[in-house]
Amino acid sequence: MPPTTQENIEYLKSKGVNIIDAASGFLASGLEGKGRMAEPEDIANQVSNFFASKQELKGKKVLITAGPTHEKIDPVRFIGNHSSGKMGYALAEECAARGADVYLVSGPVQIKAKHPNIKTISVVSAGEMFEAASAEFDSSDITILCAAVADFRPETQADEKIKREKDDLVIRLKPTQDIAANLGSRKKENQILVGFALETNNEAENAQGKLKRKNLDFIVLNSLKDENACFGYDTNKITIIEKNGNTQAFSLKSKTEVAKDIIDKVCKA
Ligand code: C5P
Repeated sequence: MPPTTQENIEYLKSKGVNIIDAASGFLASGLEGKGRMAEPEDIANQVSNFFASKQELKGKKVLITAGPTHEKIDPVRFIGNHSSGKMGYALAEECAARGADVYLVSGPVQIKAKHPNIKTISVVSAGEMFEAASAEFDSSDITILCAAVADFRPETQADEKIKREKDDLVIRLKPTQDIAANLGSRKKENQILVGFALETNNEAENAQGKLKRKNLDFIVLNSLKDENACFGYDTNKITIIEKNGNTQAFSLKSKTEVAKDIIDKVCKA
C-alpha cells in the first residue's frame, strides 16, 4: 500500500473511524497480495456486528459533566481554567453511539454535541453545574464527571467593572461545592460513578485518594507531565484505577479512542 494511503488510514483510525481491511488474493494488476476489496459478505457482517455491539447502553441514562466553569469576579472578568470540553464531549458521543440517552452538563466551551441522543444543559459556574448535575443524578445509571470544576469562587461579585487602582486588589475566595463528593455520597448500588483526576505530581496516590473520598467506582487519571495529553489537545493518555485497586494504563490516543476505552470499562462493570 502506498505510504500516503497508509498514513491516511492511520489518521482516520486515530479519529475513531472503523476500517474494513482489504482482502488478500489475485489483484487486477496481475499481482497477488493484500489489496482486493473485502468480500461483500464480510463487509455486511462487519457492519452488522458494529451496530449490534454499539447498542449495549440502550435504555441507560448517562450523565456527563464537561468543560471548565467560570466564576464571576465582575461583569467582564472571571476565574476559569484551560479545559476545552473535548474529552467530555467525546465520552458523550461514544455513549450516545452505544444507544444511551445522554445528559451533558457543559461549562462554557467552543464545541457542540452532534448525536441526536445528547441533551446538552449549558451552565457557567460550579454552582450552576452542581444544580444541573444534581437534578439529573438520581435517575442516571452511569455518571461520568469529566468537568474541570473551579474549586474556589469569589465570595462577592462586583456589579460594575472593577477599576484599576494603585493599591492591591484582594479577592476573597470561597470553596465551591464538590459535585463528585456530593453525588458519591448519594450513590446507590445500581449506579456507576466515574471521576477524572488531572495531576501534576504523586499522580497515582492523589487519584486513589480522590477515588475513595468521592466514593467513585473508577477514576481516570491524566497527568500534565505527559506530552500532547490533557487540556486542549485532541489526544490524551490515561490510566484507569478501579475501586478494587486494579489499574490499567493506556497509550497516547485520540480522545475518541480514549472515550471508547473508558466506556468499554464502564460497560464491563
Ligand atoms: O478537582 P479534583 O481533582 O478534585 O477533581 C476530581 C474529580 O472531581 C473530577 O471528576 C471532577 O470533575 C470532580 N469535581 C467535581 N466538583 C468539584 C471539583 C471536582 O465534581 N467542585
